[in-house]
Amino acid sequence: MDIQLSLRARWVSSPRSHEPASPSSDRNQLGGMIPLSSGNMRGHKEGRTKMTKCPHCLQTFHEIWNDHYLGRGTTDKENPYARKTWVIRKCDCTECGRTIMSLRTYDGSLSESEFRDGLAATVTDDQFVVPKSMPRKPLPREIPDEFAEDYREASLVLADSPKASAALSRRCLQHFLQEKMGAKSSELAAQIEHVLTTGGLPSHLAEAIDAVRRVGNFAAHPIKSKHTGEVIDVEPGEAEWLLDTLESLFDFYFIQPIELQKRRDALDRKLKEAGKPPLK
Ligand SMILES: [Zn+2]
Repeated sequence: MDIQLSLRARWVSSPRSHEPASPSSDRNQLGGMIPLSSGNMRGHKEGRTKMTKCPHCLQTFHEIWNDHYLGRGTTDKENPYARKTWVIRKCDCTECGRTIMSLRTYDGSLSESEFRDGLAATVTDDQFVVPKSMPRKPLPREIPDEFAEDYREASLVLADSPKASAALSRRCLQHFLQEKMGAKSSELAAQIEHVLTTGGLPSHLAEAIDAVRRVGNFAAHPIKSKHTGEVIDVEPGEAEWLLDTLESLFDFYFIQPIELQKRRDALDRKLKEAGKPPLK
């Protein structure tokens, strides 16, 4: 994406008729994960705004978008695949002040004046440009840095390189299983086997860890098990699955005991007030 191009483009307000056709659930696309309105109406300050979630800080704010007409494909009616119009949309989060931009594609070839006049066109795609994707939920600060650092980096690079993300996550999972679950083998597949046979995890987590081997097709790619940090091809959904599994493991291992302890402390205070002995 040539950002300079978008900065040079003249600001135009997007017409009311340009509504998204179908929201996508892809994290990198704008429908679904963050509800975006049809944008600024004629004169963006007059338009009604909707609440949206900022992809930088995850806070909710009133979105006000500026649309910059970028250009269009062919006007040839015989070539529907190239009859497109592209618009860069920009919005500043009122909570964190950071800029959000998306590249919106319309079905149909519109000149800038047609676009500004509100000629009907359907939105067929809406992709984040800044930031490149919706971030994952921030990790609670109780997660020790020795695990959190790899996880955070794996989350950051997910949109650009699922391969690099998966390598960081595998390395992180291996380190966690070694340090916290007593799985000392040098191979991740054997560590997972160790954890599954020794127990200690609720069944949904055991299944999630087991699925790391299957989703990543360790049988066909033993290097993923032998050299976890190696950057090699990933299966569809593998990088996301690794992050999801790590997040669940961290929650189970670090967060749930803290929450339980807080509830026990609260109960002990009540028991003390009632003149009864604390829980053992
Ligand atoms: Zn923000």
